Amino acid sequence: MKTEPITEQLELFGCIQCGKCTGGCPLARKTELNIRSMIYNMLVEPELDVHAHPELWDCTTCFTCVVRCPKDVRPAELIISLRGQLVESGRIPETIGTALMGIFRQGNPNGMAREDRSAWAQGMEIKDARQGCSVLYHVGCIPSYDLRVQPVARALARALTEAGVDFGTLGTDENCCGNEVRRMGEEGLFEMLVEENGELIRSVGADRLVTTSPHCFNTFKNEYGFDDIEVLHYTQLVAELIEQGRLKFTKEVKAKVTYHDPCFLGKQNGVFEEPRAIIKAIPGVELVEMDRNRERSLCCEGGGGRMWVEGTNKEERLAFQRVHEAADTGAEILAVACPFCLLTLVDAVKVQGLEERLKVMDIMEIVNLAL
Ligand code: SF4
Ligand code: SF4
Repeated sequence: MKTEPITEQLELFGCIQCGKCTGGCPLARKTELNIRSMIYNMLVEPELDVHAHPELWDCTTCFTCVVRCPKDVRPAELIISLRGQLVESGRIPETIGTALMGIFRQGNPNGMAREDRSAWAQGMEIKDARQGCSVLYHVGCIPSYDLRVQPVARALARALTEAGVDFGTLGTDENCCGNEVRRMGEEGLFEMLVEENGELIRSVGADRLVTTSPHCFNTFKNEYGFDDIEVLHYTQLVAELIEQGRLKFTKEVKAKVTYHDPCFLGKQNGVFEEPRAIIKAIPGVELVEMDRNRERSLCCEGGGGRMWVEGTNKEERLAFQRVHEAADTGAEILAVACPFCLLTLVDAVKVQGLEERLKVMDIMEIVNLAL
């Protein structure tokens, strides 16, 4: 069967070469990544030698270019598609190969044992969703295993319990959602995950699916075709519980807090207000904004597989820049709502020597202090 050339599959002919995509790309000034000229080259000579472009792994799939393109070209999809060619050829960075293999074998990119997936909930009583529940909580790979992120999942489970939400998880049967898999170019593995996860999640019969990570939220909401299940990021559910008076704070957290919008929650899915509503509802907290907020938020460089590949931007990480922007607001806490942002920004605070001035916390960790 003859397949359409990439230029037609992705409708690249709609491109007017205005450059808004590259103008908005946070990596364009730091590396060779130039999405506008890549599109131009593809239109002139569609057989691009993908192996000659290591900067293809620099893209974080933040989708700033997609949001800014006036012709709906969706430039980042070209990068995902070209990464697909690299995956098919087998010539990919070793760390990307290891992450994909970990997902295929163990259901998570770090290759941790499937049977340890519930370790985050040790000592807590969490219902098996298959006993019946109205909310299925998809914990996600990083919150399930990473010691720095596990407290976020525990804080959310505690808050849901205190608010009387009937929720459950899939325990050790939970699997990687595949959001990053698709963005690393492994379409075949992604489709397999959609089929397997979709069937398992539907079998629970829950009305709502809530995620810790904006990355899981994004793919479940936009790429799984869940017509009868409402997909929520946890900030949406927690903001609702506070609004309804079901989640009540009993303590004050006296702190100035600034909030970093994750790309997959904010600019890709328009969830800007709920995280802020939670922060503002916490007694004692003062929310201060960074200049680049909401749609203009600076990517932390953790998405699109970048947690597992360094890319060519080795010196001036975007996360380094971001923690200085946060510290300049005078905030003591940089609040995040994404496991990748949490890890990249915690690391950046250390590397930039800002530990005395700025603490990075997930919103749920701040909520947990006030319950
Ligand atoms: S913003 Fe859209 S139309 Fe403009 S150069 Fe980029 S892809 Fe082409
Ligand atoms: S998705 Fe983000 S990093 Fe990738 S090309 Fe577009 S703007 Fe640049």
